[in-house]
Amino acid sequence: MTFKTINKENHANLVWDSELIAKYDIAGPRYTSYPTALQFSDKFGEADYRRAATQRLDSIAPLSLYVHIPFCHDICYYCGCNKIVTSKKQKGREYIDYLAKEIALQSQLYSKSRKVTQLHWGGGTPTFLNNAEITQLMYLISSSFTLLDSNKREYSIEIDPRTINMETIPLLKGLGFNRISLGVQDFDPKVQKAVNRIQPLEQISRLTKQIRQHRFKSLSFDLIYGLPYQSLETMAKTLDQVIELSPDRISCYNYAHLPHRFKSQRAIDRMSLPPAELKLPMLEYITHRFVDAGYVFIGMDHFVKQEDDLATAQRNSTLQRNFQGYSTCLAPDLIGLGMSSISSMDSCFAQNTKNLEDYYQALDHNELPIEKGLLVTEEDKIRRAVIMQIICKLSLDYSLIENRYLINFKTHFSDSFERLTTMENDGLVQLNENNLKVTKMGRPMVRNICMAFDQHIASLMEGNTPYHSKTL
Ligand code: SF4
Repeated sequence: MTFKTINKENHANLVWDSELIAKYDIAGPRYTSYPTALQFSDKFGEADYRRAATQRLDSIAPLSLYVHIPFCHDICYYCGCNKIVTSKKQKGREYIDYLAKEIALQSQLYSKSRKVTQLHWGGGTPTFLNNAEITQLMYLISSSFTLLDSNKREYSIEIDPRTINMETIPLLKGLGFNRISLGVQDFDPKVQKAVNRIQPLEQISRLTKQIRQHRFKSLSFDLIYGLPYQSLETMAKTLDQVIELSPDRISCYNYAHLPHRFKSQRAIDRMSLPPAELKLPMLEYITHRFVDAGYVFIGMDHFVKQEDDLATAQRNSTLQRNFQGYSTCLAPDLIGLGMSSISSMDSCFAQNTKNLEDYYQALDHNELPIEKGLLVTEEDKIRRAVIMQIICKLSLDYSLIENRYLINFKTHFSDSFERLTTMENDGLVQLNENNLKVTKMGRPMVRNICMAFDQHIASLMEGNTPYHSKTL
């Protein structure tokens, strides 16, 4: 397939080498955290979390909050999220009552002087809640935490275009949200039918206009490639339609068919999936098409407009990353609220139970519903700092890590350098005396470069069960 109107200037920071990309197309983490959630253990519990939070009691640093609303009206077959499909609207009411208990318990652990710079409502479907419930939940949060009344905040919410009520959009703006994320996936009717998510272009177009009218700071679209019946031709049409609607940010994920892990994926006919050998040409097309249209590829499946805060942050080396993806204003501590949500501090991760009854039962006993987690070792902290720098800055200054953690970088990471040497020979990285730089050719393979520093990856690669999606 040929690409139309390639703008060489836009492609200046990216070189696509299909053969190399195929060579590095293996399963690997997206590094929204390090260590990843696969390392969490049920040996970690509420007492560990409280102990870690107590050590942060005097902190006045900003906070991030994540709120998980697990309910969905209908099942999308590709879905790998923690969700509960139900038509019972009253479930939302009951859930908020329990969130109120959890908010009260969690907020006691942190100083009220800490400002919430980042807030994200995800799911499931946050807009499963009706307008009164959404308002009440925001009121509960704002009564227990100090929200930031400035344009510097990142307050975002995921919206299901099929069920959103048009009056909800101005309400969300009024409540302080400034970013909206829409699950678009694909515009092709046959693809939408095969994944049980029917949302015509006109519907998304109307919603996009409504969101623009209310002047949200940014609108993101989530797309997926590798879905049933997708081809280069159908993708090309969907991408044209997406570009026409002009979202500020686009994430384009590789569909990982893991029916042994996600029951709903068993409804997808394996034979309808695009052949494996088409995945890379699809990704190549997606990357070129968005870059041609003026978007900046900031890495890890994400494209943003040139003037977007994330593109500016990457240029200024201030880009950050956590469970919600890339950010410009991450706080050192993230509090996860709701079933299955993850809290993180420098020293630990804590994940709530994924079972709704267990979640309610713990809160009935005034306990935090933490099911598992991880105490982060000093070694994990060093490796996390390395991995996050590479992902966000696409370079790594060894002295930064040496000064912060009092190590000799090259000695400490001698194993990693053995793996990196192959990548250097392949042109993915430049290993200089004092720093590492991801090359233009290495940008699509940044996950692979990070994997060279991942101490836990070997144990996850053992056996044949794929825990991660392919890196590309
Ligand atoms: S993709 Fe979103 S809306 Fe669909 S089932 Fe999963 S969580 Fe629910």
